[in-house]
Amino acid sequence: MNRPMAAEPLLDVRDLSVEFDTRAGRLRAVDFVSWTLHRGRTLVILGESGSGKSVSTQAITGILDSPPGHVTGGQALFDGMDLLTLTERARRGVVGSRISLVFQDALSALNPVHTVGRQIAELYRVHRGTSRSDAMKRAAEMLDRVGIPGARGRVHDYPHQFSGGMRQRVMIAMALALGPEVLIADEPTTALDVTVQAQILELLAEIQADTDMGVVLITHDLAVAAEIADDLVVMYAGRVVESGATADVLGDPQHPYTQGLLQSVPSAERRGQDLPAIPGTPPDLMRLPSGCPFRPRCPHAHDRCVTERPALQPAPGELRFGACHLLDQPLSPEGAAR
Ligand code: SF4
Repeated sequence: MNRPMAAEPLLDVRDLSVEFDTRAGRLRAVDFVSWTLHRGRTLVILGESGSGKSVSTQAITGILDSPPGHVTGGQALFDGMDLLTLTERARRGVVGSRISLVFQDALSALNPVHTVGRQIAELYRVHRGTSRSDAMKRAAEMLDRVGIPGARGRVHDYPHQFSGGMRQRVMIAMALALGPEVLIADEPTTALDVTVQAQILELLAEIQADTDMGVVLITHDLAVAAEIADDLVVMYAGRVVESGATADVLGDPQHPYTQGLLQSVPSAERRGQDLPAIPGTPPDLMRLPSGCPFRPRCPHAHDRCVTERPALQPAPGELRFGACHLLDQPLSPEGAAR
């Protein structure tokens, strides 16, 4: 995606920090994370497992497993409100209607003992006071909107009667039923095969093109990010290491982690060659290395990286940020600054 930047911020997350109490002590899962979602754009949060990408959106929407998780700082500004300081009741008035969620595992997110039609219709009845028959009609319209064949009949089916891809469409129908301004989708296509994954991403893009909704999509898959994101936030060890417009970040990655991710994606030019993987594994958040958290895996690490943690700072280009001591020096894949 390469839509022109809209001026209006829709959801503005500033310096969000989240900590967890564990038997081994307190760990910081999200560390001063900031990003801005603009109306009509898709922002992708990209990172490996444990990078803090899901925890940050769970904290914003109030579904963090708490305790043991606690928001320890920051703001999440939406329409003049800070979502992090709303009362539970006020937050319930926003999340689920104006901000909607889609999860990876549609089967466990849907209620197995109610038909999908009833589950969607219930949203109209509770939030809009719609009559039972009108709510059911609207449920069928939503199923049709997300591409479920024979939607009028299928409102009477239960979740287990749908395939994985169709269940994910039902989840998207539920999430979109009340016309949200923000859709947050956490790994919505991870459990699906490649063809169905492409269909679901296409569906999200189509629906977004018809509305002015902002979409936050969380993924570990760079190919998915490249396909759908207008803006990209790359997370590592609970922090943002690089962010900016997708074309800029992927066209000229500034952080060695982003560069390593890009090199490990198959491409036509590298057909038949071994793909270089980033060596090592993500760090244990209880035992982060000194200095830069990416240091043990970084081909460019140098003395300063051992002692000084790089701050997120403006990177070359418009609205680009990076957290690396070598930001102003182009990097070669081999490990030296060019
Ligand atoms: Fe690598 Fe140092 Fe940059 Fe961290 S700060 S990414 S270790 S060069």
